[in-house]
Amino acid sequence: MKGAGGPAGPPFGLEPAVSIRRFVNDEIASVAARWGDEGAEFEFICECGELRCGRFLKLTLADYRASAPGSVIGHAGDGL
Ligand SMILES: [Zn+2]
Repeated sequence: MKGAGGPAGPPFGLEPAVSIRRFVNDEIASVAARWGDEGAEFEFICECGELRCGRFLKLTLADYRASAPGSVIGHAGDGL
């Protein structure tokens, strides 16, 4: 089992780079929800899984909640 996927496996069954970003985005969403404005846009981080990717994506809280983990992508497959 050595070297297979790292500690305990990522949540959501996604690559670690994706699940970490999803975790951060969930934190952003929970902070944003405290402000109580579902229609406002907040900046979420791109979940493409590229470790070097530092892009952000503006989404409303409602849009973010409707997105599947790993589907919040701040660019259209145009590379980095
Ligand atoms: Zn990206």
